[in-house]
Amino acid sequence: MTLHADAASDYTRGVASGQSASLWRAWEDERQRLWKRRGFVAASGLSALGLAFDMLRPSLATAATPKFRAYPFSLGVASGDPLPDSVVLWTRLAPEPLENFGGMDAVRVPVQWQVAEDPKFRRVVRSGSTLALPEYVHSVHVDVRGLKPGRPYYYRFRCGGEISAVGRTRTAPAPSTDLSALRFAIVSCQAWFDGFYTAYRHLAEEDLDVVLHLGDYLYEYSVRTNGGRPGVSLPEKFERVTTLLNDYRDRYALYKLDPDIQAAHAAFPWIVTWDDHEVVNNYADENHPSMPPEDFLVRRANAYRAFWEHMPVRNPPTGPDMGLYRRFSFGRLVEFNVLDTRQYRDDQACGDGLRTDCEERLDPQRTLLGPDQENWLLDGLASSTARWNVLAQQIMMAQLDFTLEPGQAFSMDLWDGYKPARDRIVSALIEHNVSNPVVLSGDIHRSMAAEIKARFDDPDSPVVGTEFIGTSISSGMDGADRDEFAEPFLANPHVKFYNAQRGYVRFTVMPERLQADYRVVPYVHEPGAQITTRASFVTEDGKPGLIQVADNPPIGRLFSAQIPPPEQPVTPYE
Ligand code: FE
Ligand code: CA
Repeated sequence: MTLHADAASDYTRGVASGQSASLWRAWEDERQRLWKRRGFVAASGLSALGLAFDMLRPSLATAATPKFRAYPFSLGVASGDPLPDSVVLWTRLAPEPLENFGGMDAVRVPVQWQVAEDPKFRRVVRSGSTLALPEYVHSVHVDVRGLKPGRPYYYRFRCGGEISAVGRTRTAPAPSTDLSALRFAIVSCQAWFDGFYTAYRHLAEEDLDVVLHLGDYLYEYSVRTNGGRPGVSLPEKFERVTTLLNDYRDRYALYKLDPDIQAAHAAFPWIVTWDDHEVVNNYADENHPSMPPEDFLVRRANAYRAFWEHMPVRNPPTGPDMGLYRRFSFGRLVEFNVLDTRQYRDDQACGDGLRTDCEERLDPQRTLLGPDQENWLLDGLASSTARWNVLAQQIMMAQLDFTLEPGQAFSMDLWDGYKPARDRIVSALIEHNVSNPVVLSGDIHRSMAAEIKARFDDPDSPVVGTEFIGTSISSGMDGADRDEFAEPFLANPHVKFYNAQRGYVRFTVMPERLQADYRVVPYVHEPGAQITTRASFVTEDGKPGLIQVADNPPIGRLFSAQIPPPEQPVTPYE
């Protein structure tokens, strides 16, 4: 006999007898009816249903004038997915960024935003207000429409009397534009515990139209610094591998607290995709050895949710699924096919790892992109009218034999582990005579340049496209110009360049040629390293393959006017 049992029986008696019972039935009927009509009621704003309808509403309050214990825009601002008339703006309210829920209460908070043509916000062209919801850890996504194509904009947020840093962004040019040049960079792999984001500090100083992040924005590992970030102590909850939704959220907050990554986000629009570590190392669709698929999909849902909450992308996930592959055009000059090589792939062949004799990797039934994405990609390549056709994705596509011994050793996690899937893409490039195919990759923490061959086992077969592999921002710590992989990797005849330091790749694309500059820093174990161009390669229009050019060649001014960097505005927010 307990108080709980008594309370339960009272409740049951009350419902089962007399007036209470009829009231209860009436309420049940009303509830059923309301749920069926819910869409109509919500859409038309009818309030005649009074109390019953109130009980269906979420109970979270809206804080009209929020008061923060600390500055709420601690994670900076970002923009991304530029279209000719639109760009997505992002921020998150997190006054105590390493606390649960960023130190925010479970209330809805109105956030205002402005987009201006000038960095001082004298010419505001779009503005509005949106609700930051606790369900999404008070992240904010604004898909600003009605912008002019191919020009810079400046943006900022305001909430509870606090104003965010100013971000600079840029819309894509109109589809018919004959663009004379596009400048962009690829970045990837930024293990916080491996070193400082010095490369991002330099990236923010570059003159770019857009940045592409090719994955491993964060790592699921427990954050015990490898010596890359000395003297930092963190809450104990960072000492475990991420599985819960809040684990992933806390990691994004930690990574985004860094001032250098904030500067790089604030300087350009980013187009982001993911690799494996945004969820867990080497996962494949619903498969990972850590847990059975039904449990793993819950973890994946947590990871995808947190990814979306912290990235300037348009579409949120639906449960454990998130549509991330998409296409961006920059006039007639460049089309980016942004791929997702994780969510739909078959499990790695032969138990994953490096394999010398794996028949399974040759099975034509196996897929890396999944049938829908593969068809979407092949259809897009066949019908593209762009001069340069880019595959922006995660993992090295060119064949990569890891061994100097007799025989070949391939990584089952790379395209080598899905050879027929690669062959289908290469065949389509040839069959449709796709104009200037360019593959961009990350993942292996090395700067490399490679040629895509019609048949990798035949060195005399034609070069079909060019691949640029970008190194990591910090993963792998300082690195070196050459390490133990230099010799075996360069022994692959189609691999033309190797370096194992940290940095990014900067691209200049013009109608007549594409140039890639491999920008590297000598160390990341402490801040302040200078950046240099380690090597530059050119691909000429209509001639796939790599030509190494002198270090730091003068490229000349590409834009008509220097775009001023973001600065704190002088015009009050109104
Ligand atoms: Fe990585
Ligand atoms: Ca990876």
